[in-house]
Amino acid sequence: MSATLTLPQTPLWIDGAAVPATSGQSLTVSSSATEDLIAELGVAGKDDVDRAVAAARKAFGRWATTPAGKRTRILNKAADLIRARAGELAELESRNNGKPVAHCKGEILSGAEVFEFFAGAATKITGETVPAIMPGTLSLTVKEPIGVCAQIIPWNYPFMMASWKLAPALAAGCCIVLKPSELTPLTAMKLAEILAEAGLPAGVLNVVHGPGETVGNWLVTHPGVDKVAFTGGTETGRAIMAAAAGRLKRLTLELGGKSPSVVFADVDVEAVAAASVHAIFYSAGQSCEARSRILVEQSVHDRFVEAFVAKAGKLVVGDPTQEVTHVGSLISAEHLAKVDGFVQRAVAAGVTVALGGKRAEAHAKGHFYLPTVLTGVTPEHEVFKQEVFGPVVTITPFASEAEALKLANGTDYGLFASVWTRDLARGLRMAQGISSGGVGINQPFTAFSGLPFGGTKQSGLGRELSVRSLDAYLEEKAIMANTTDKVFNPFGL
Ligand code: NAD
Repeated sequence: MSATLTLPQTPLWIDGAAVPATSGQSLTVSSSATEDLIAELGVAGKDDVDRAVAAARKAFGRWATTPAGKRTRILNKAADLIRARAGELAELESRNNGKPVAHCKGEILSGAEVFEFFAGAATKITGETVPAIMPGTLSLTVKEPIGVCAQIIPWNYPFMMASWKLAPALAAGCCIVLKPSELTPLTAMKLAEILAEAGLPAGVLNVVHGPGETVGNWLVTHPGVDKVAFTGGTETGRAIMAAAAGRLKRLTLELGGKSPSVVFADVDVEAVAAASVHAIFYSAGQSCEARSRILVEQSVHDRFVEAFVAKAGKLVVGDPTQEVTHVGSLISAEHLAKVDGFVQRAVAAGVTVALGGKRAEAHAKGHFYLPTVLTGVTPEHEVFKQEVFGPVVTITPFASEAEALKLANGTDYGLFASVWTRDLARGLRMAQGISSGGVGINQPFTAFSGLPFGGTKQSGLGRELSVRSLDAYLEEKAIMANTTDKVFNPFGL
């Protein structure tokens, strides 16, 4: 008997119930930190995807017309259930993904906040009246849910990304087929169970599993899917945009980043170094908005590097079950090799490794990489321009505000940026000049319910998390009514 046969099974979630995949195919899910196999994942066949889309289509008519207040109550109940189970969900997330359990707990709780935020927003969806076009008319707009949405998410924040996607779509009245990353599918299944317990009708949410190239692509090109909401890599985003073009599907894309932290000389160097360590090494640098390029004003560059390296050197790398751990495992051996490849090519190109630069040897199992600081990095280096998506930061000096802005804008990405200065006018000027979806001034945080989150340039299309992000799940319809007893006769016939 194969060892995998004894693993807990992770089925699909279709029409309100856990069901086995009919493809007969499966994938094993492992723990990134221990490399233990922890689940066997049923891989959806084309028939399963068809069934999931059909269930969503069937549920759509009723869910779209369910009173908004009822949607609010269901989403609020889901938020309560998430909070009640946050510990259990965090353990499962950490076990699968390899990031510290304490961080997972924070991410699960922030998922609950997103459900609460959009629970409140569901009852605030309004159209508008338009000044009379001609006497005897009344014109108005109504907003209607788009229909069935395919939502495809990555492995770096599995529960949080599922929450960011599901909550606004459900609030708007859409039905969903969600495809989590095949590497981290476990907490999305728990979320489906939680939403069902909270009262979500069968078919409104369906979850299918499997590789993006097959299962993801079937969803993106499926004639029963009206909208695709994707979070993942920029190259994948381009492929999805092309595949979705065949039926002009509505599309939102949350893609990669190469976000800068711009540090001016007037700051408290020690304090900003500490905050900047968090801004890159949280989630082992596997964050789309990780501030992976630090730009430092020349006069404090050496002092900043010294402080940053000293603080990053104190990070505890290792066992994600321990409260003291700051940096857990990377997601996979393949991903670690990719991250290390960037570092080794940078070294070959003349960059200096001020800290780390290799896997953490203390851990025989798992995919632990040392927090890595690269100095002497110029805009020509590959590692300055491309997303590494790991615990690797570059530090580059600048001589003037104009040069800082040029460097900050010197990549194809535009997701987020941090600016550190005591001169608020300069901070705001930089915020106006940087091309990105968001800018933090003198603080390292990035994403909160209520604030739009998303990218410019190659970092994506559209925004999540704000009230207006609901519009990504709504169509606007114009209604023009004749309020007289007569029928207009424009030809005078
Ligand atoms: P990925 O693009 O490889 O995969 C993301 C998801 O897309 C997975 O579920 C995958 O199975 C699926 N997929 C892959 N190919 C597909 C295809 N051809 N058609 C349909 N689906 C397909 O990304 P990843 O490695 O899982 O995640 C890392 C990337 O995600 C990074 O670039 C990161 O910056 C980005 N990301 C962006 C945000 C954001 O909000 N902007 C948030 C998190 C992660």
